[in-house]
Amino acid sequence: MLFDSHAHLDDSKFDADREKVILSMQESGVSYIANIGYDLESSRRSIVLAKRYPFIYAVVGVHPHDVENLTEADILELKELAKSDKVVAIGEIGLDYYYDNSPRDLQKKWFERQIELALELKLPIVIHNRDSNSDCMEILRKYPVKKIGGIMHCYSGSAQMAKEVIDMGLCLSFAGPVTFKNNRRGVEAVAEVPLSKILIETDCPYLAPEPVRGTRNDSRNVKLVAEKVAEIKGISFEEVAKVTTENAKRVYRIK
Ligand SMILES: [Zn+2]
Repeated sequence: MLFDSHAHLDDSKFDADREKVILSMQESGVSYIANIGYDLESSRRSIVLAKRYPFIYAVVGVHPHDVENLTEADILELKELAKSDKVVAIGEIGLDYYYDNSPRDLQKKWFERQIELALELKLPIVIHNRDSNSDCMEILRKYPVKKIGGIMHCYSGSAQMAKEVIDMGLCLSFAGPVTFKNNRRGVEAVAEVPLSKILIETDCPYLAPEPVRGTRNDSRNVKLVAEKVAEIKGISFEEVAKVTTENAKRVYRIK
C-alpha cells in the first residue's frame, strides 16, 4: 500500500491515457494519491479527478510561478473550492527563486495570504520551496503552522534545516531526486529524518526517479522512491510503504 502524496495527473501530458494510467494504480500497489493544484484551473481539475476516483484527493492552491496576476477575488474563489468534500490541503504554495517566474515580493505576499487562508479553513499546507530556504523559513516562523501541519514537498534542504521544519509541526516529502546519483544531501536528509515524518511522492509528470529518469513520470513510480528510502534507512520496503502511507493519511486527515 503506497500513498503518492504529490501528483499532477491532470497535466496535459496525461491527456492521451489518463484514465488508463489512473485505473492501473491499485493493481500497482498505489492506494492513495493527492493531486495538487498550481493555479485555479488545475485546482478545479484536481477536484474533478478526486470526485471521479475514490482513491484520489485534491489539494488546491496557487504555485509561486502563477501568482503574478493573482487577486483577492481569486483567493475567495480558492476558498470556495477548498470547501469541496475531497479537498485535503491548501497547495502548492511557496517560493521559487530558482526560476523567479513571478517577482519575489509577490511570491512572498501570496504565500503568506494562502497560509492565512489555510489557517482560517483549518487545512494543512503543501509547500513548494526552491532556492528560497531563508525567506521560506522566515515566513513559516511568522505563523502558527503547527496548528494545521503540512508538508515541505520535494524536500531538497539540509538535514539541519529538516530539524527546524519538523519542529514547526511539518513533514517532509521526498521525490525522484533522492534516487539520483550524487544526491548526497538528499540521502543525508532521509537518513536523519525519523520515518514518522517522511512522506513519499512522484511530483509526476516531472522528476521521474532512477532507473526511469527522464521519462514521463506517473504515480506508480512512487514505489521506486519507497525502495530508495528503505535502502537508505536499512529497513524493509513494506515498513516504508506502511508508515509513509499512515503519515500522509495523518497529515491530510484521511480516515
Ligand atoms: Zn508539484
